[in-house]
Amino acid sequence: MTDLLDVRREAEALMAAHLDGSWTFAFDNAKRRAGACDYTRQRITLSRYLSARYDAETNRQTMLHEIAHALAGARAGHGAAWKRTARELGYTGGVTHRGETATELAPWVGVCPAGHVAYRHRRATRATSCAKCSPRFDERFLLAWTRREITPATRLAAMTPR
Ligand SMILES: [Zn+2]
Ligand SMILES: [Zn+2]
Repeated sequence: MTDLLDVRREAEALMAAHLDGSWTFAFDNAKRRAGACDYTRQRITLSRYLSARYDAETNRQTMLHEIAHALAGARAGHGAAWKRTARELGYTGGVTHRGETATELAPWVGVCPAGHVAYRHRRATRATSCAKCSPRFDERFLLAWTRREITPATRLAAMTPR
């Protein structure tokens, strides 16, 4: 987990380095995209939900993506002008805003006896059964949980469009 105070400090430092003072930073509640650029309000936002789960470098990349939007302007979209600006800033990711989906991020993977797979961000504190096999708890369909490593490379790859 990354401290949101650190995320904000890094984000504001990047904005101060590349944008004029009319732009502000805020967190938003998005679950499926890491960042956004609001040209009208001149505001760049990061998902508090995703940025807390990303490492600092991934958050930095998201900020560079959005700062490139702020510099290139709304009309540039993800076109050549935006790409050139983004590369100059040191952005190495793709054109997506979505960030990774929840399942790609979740370190806990559960498998039921029938082979269905479920994902969790936290360790299950009590026995859980497969929702596909039974809508209600049923000990015949218990999920067996294992923890996997989510590396920064996995996170970055997940942010890059396929
Ligand atoms: Zn974009
Ligand atoms: Zn199942």
